[in-house]
This record gives sequence, C-alpha cells and structure tokens, in this order.
Amino acid sequence: MEIKDITYSYDKKTNHLENISSKIDQHKITTIIGPNGSGKSTLLGILANSYAPNKGQVMIDGKQLHQIKPKELAKKIAIVHQQNSAPADMTVEKLTSYGRLPYKSIFSNQTPDDQQAVEWALQKTNLIAKKTKMISELSGGERQRAWIAMTLAQSTPYLFLDEPTTYLDIYYQYEILELVKQLNSENGLTIVMVLHDINQAIRYSDTIMVMKDGKLIKKGTPEQVVTSELIQEIYGVQAVVKMDEESGLYILPLGTQ
Ligand code: ADP
Ligand code: MG
Repeated sequence: MEIKDITYSYDKKTNHLENISSKIDQHKITTIIGPNGSGKSTLLGILANSYAPNKGQVMIDGKQLHQIKPKELAKKIAIVHQQNSAPADMTVEKLTSYGRLPYKSIFSNQTPDDQQAVEWALQKTNLIAKKTKMISELSGGERQRAWIAMTLAQSTPYLFLDEPTTYLDIYYQYEILELVKQLNSENGLTIVMVLHDINQAIRYSDTIMVMKDGKLIKKGTPEQVVTSELIQEIYGVQAVVKMDEESGLYILPLGTQ
C-alpha cells in the first residue's frame, strides 16, 4: 500500500493532513502514534477510503483506492473504528456474520464459505463460547474482540485498528495486542493500528509512524523512532528511553517539565 502526497481537510480551511507520503509494508505491523488531534484517525480513514483526499492518492495492489468498487475494497481492507456501536440485542455470532456482507448479494443465503469464515473469526477471537450472547452482555474486552471477529470474517489481507486497547484493563489490552500479533505472524495480515501507549507500540510494531499537526514527522523501526528527543518534540514530555536486556527498548515518562 502506497500513500502518495495526501492532503486532507474536513472544512477546506485547515489541512488536517498535509503532504503525507509513505508506504505500508505488506505482512508487517505498522503503528501510528501522536498526540490527540494529530490526524491519526483521519489518516486511517483515508487509508480505508472512508474519506477521499483533497490531494494525492492511496494505491493498493497498484490501483487507486477510489477506483475500486466498495464491495471489492471491503474484501481487501477491514477496519475497527475507535468507537463502535452495535444494537445491544444483537448476538456475537450475528455481528460477526456482518463481516460477510461484501461476499453477498441481496438474495444470497449463507454459504459454507461464510459459515467457515464466521467460525474461524469466532475461534481466533476466542468467542466460540460466547457466540449466542448479546453484545450488551459482554465485557469491554469481549466486545472489542467481537468487533475484531466481524472484521476477521471479512477475510481481508489488511486490518486497520483505531485505538483497539483504549478503555480496556491491562490484561485485555495485552490480549488484544497478542491477537493482533498472531493474526500478523500466523495469518500474514498486514496490520495498521493506532496506539497511545508507546511501550506497546515499541513491543508490537515492525514500523512506527509518528504524526503531529497533520504531518508525518517520522517513520522507522521502534529503535529508530523512539528517542527522548522525539518524545519531547511530539508530546512535550520528558522521558527516559532505555534498552533493557530482558524487555528490550522501553520508555519511562518523567513529566512535562
Ligand atoms: P487523532 O485521531 O490523532 O486524535 P483525528 O484524526 O481524529 O486525530 O483529528 C485530526 C483533526 O481533525 C483534529 O483537529 C480534529 O478536530 C479534526 N477532525 C476530526 N474529525 C473531524 C470531523 N468529522 N469534522 C471536522 N474536523 C474533524
Ligand atoms: Mg483518533
């Protein structure tokens, strides 16, 4: 996937994204970090063709995103948004089966392929035992997994996740991150996600992209990107960045002075 000189504005006054060029490496995990309002969700929305750029283009498999029919694109890219709302009285299995919509015409019934994909998605997200439960009956972690199950049923090579760990306690945060890692390493999915926790970004990413004020400030491996200078520049936070023998690279924020 290639991002070619993207500029985007919601209101035609300010550029919420400005001259962004980059490549998303296939079969890798790319994480976007940056302060609130820096354009992370907007960029993800552009990559998923939810918004059309004012300038520039995004290419996937050599084609421009907007030239691909929505149904065909939905077979390539699945996205889990920051905020999701399902009817509370929908079962986990039903929600998951919505991931199959791109494969259906109005009149078609569930095919064995559909059933298999839904079953696989529920298995991957460890929701088989919960499949007849209503979304409203789930914990926060299970609910997040149910949304991921829906996108997995979509059977796409690209999976985008916007702050998938927000509002989850630390156990569920790592559960989601381990799932993402597994989907990448075992199933070859190309992952692009937005994370706030820099240590999690370091641990789970092949590549980190850093956004500020709608611009892509830096991109590289965690070791290349995460330095105390960058944290100061981007967030205005003083931080120690260290290499630990056991846990690898980590950051310890000290304060805002
Ligand atoms: P992030 O995900 O990094 O927190 P966003 O991409 O959501 O940032 O937002 C980037 C900028 O675009 C912010 O200034 C935000 O106020 C603005 N913005 C986001 N969504 C909209 C919208 N639907 N309409 C107008 N402005 C928006
Ligand atoms: Mg956001």
